[in-house]
This record gives sequence, C-alpha cells and structure tokens, in this order.
Amino acid sequence: MLNNLKILFHQGKQFIPDVTTARVPGIFRGRPVISTEPVNEEELAELCPTGAIEVSPVSIDLGKCTFCGECARVFPMKVRFTRDYKLSTNIRERLIIREGEDHPVEVDSATVRKEIRQVLGKSLKLRQVSAAGDNSAEWEMNAANNVQFDMSRFGIEFVASPRHADGVVITGPISENMAEPLQICYDAIPEPKIVVVAGTDAISGGIFDGSPALKREFLSLYPADLYIPGNPPHPLTIINGLLDLTRKKG
Ligand code: SF4
Repeated sequence: MLNNLKILFHQGKQFIPDVTTARVPGIFRGRPVISTEPVNEEELAELCPTGAIEVSPVSIDLGKCTFCGECARVFPMKVRFTRDYKLSTNIRERLIIREGEDHPVEVDSATVRKEIRQVLGKSLKLRQVSAAGDNSAEWEMNAANNVQFDMSRFGIEFVASPRHADGVVITGPISENMAEPLQICYDAIPEPKIVVVAGTDAISGGIFDGSPALKREFLSLYPADLYIPGNPPHPLTIINGLLDLTRKKG
C-alpha cells in the first residue's frame, strides 16, 4: 500500500488538468503574427512551399501553411510564430492571418449549426478517415485520446464504425482512390452529422494541391463544420477545436 502511494506521488498527474490553458513546452509553432515591418514581400512569398503567403498586405493562410517556419527564419522581423495552439475555426476565412493583426483564431458561435450544440454537445463520436494521409495527423488524433490529453473525458471519442459516429474527421489530401470510401463512410453516418477537416493536407491539399491524383469534390458538396490547422495538428488544437464547436461557453 505504502509502495503504491509512493509510486503515485512520484508519478504525479498523468493528465493535463486544463486543456484550455495548458502551455506547450519545447519547440512549437502555433499562430503566426505578422508585423507591419516593410520587407521584400515577393521574396517572402516566393520562399513558401505551399503558396500560403499572399502580399500587399502580407497574409498567411493557416489552411495552406505547413508550419515549416522558413518565413520566420528568413524574415524574423516580419513573421514570428507564437505558442498559441488554438487555431481551429468553423469559418475558412478566419484561417487567414494578416499583417498587423494579433488576435486569436476562434469558432464563430453564431454560425455553428444549431443541432451540433443541441444534439452533440455532451457526447461526440467520430469516425476518422485517412484520405491518403501520411499518418502524422492520424497519429496526433490518437494522441488526443491518450492518457495525457484524455479527450474522452469530454465525451469525445473515435469509433470503429460510421454507424456509431456523429461525424467524420478527414485527414490527408483526399486522393481519387479515397474519394469513394470517404463518401461511403459519410453516407453511413446518421443525421445530424458533422464534417471536420484536420491538417493542412485535408484543408487545402497542402503540398499536393493541384495534383491530378486528388479528388476533393467532397468538400464542395459537404462544407466543413470545423477546420483544424496544423501539419500535423497538435492534440490541444484538435481538442480545443472540437470543444469550441460543440459546447457553449460560460
Ligand atoms: S511556415 Fe507556413 S507560411 Fe511560412 S514558409 Fe512555411 S508554409 Fe509558408
């Protein structure tokens, strides 16, 4: 008994008590902040591998950004990445960070479909479809349910069958071969259901954008209820995004 207590004391808390205020240690690139410092904007945009940077004014699209950090490395006076991991939103436009702005990316409660909070606010089961994913975003989805992040304490879990799910989480750029399986999965989920796109590849195609191997019409037919940026997204980005989408604040 005493030994067990000693072990418990030694290990401390294995879970993050508050996932909404936790601090991310080590190297982490979260929400970028772009200063109004004049730079060679064309050169800045040119170095971005995914075309996430627009000029006049300078902006970064988090739906395209791979968070490689190259822009901040070459132009540190212009771009800096904060540790803010709350990047998820239901409005695609909100993923665009403009120069001179420094405010959080948030879910717009006013435009969240009513049934999402009414029906799915206390229990949300999700089927994850890796639509040509590279297993990085999928890995972080798994991590969101590990003992440390413990997303299931909020009633949010991944399930094996779409029949048991309230929504689909798409990772990967959606290849032609995965377009039909994704549709079959979506069709099998009962109403009301949500669509979540997680990771740069899923949101915009990422580095595969424009490839003839992709077939992304699904996202035009079924607009996303939540965008979770990151390459891959951090578990705290995933959990906070799902909580903000499904729960009323306060
Ligand atoms: S961090 Fe994002 S915006 Fe900057 S160069 Fe890399 S992909 Fe482009």
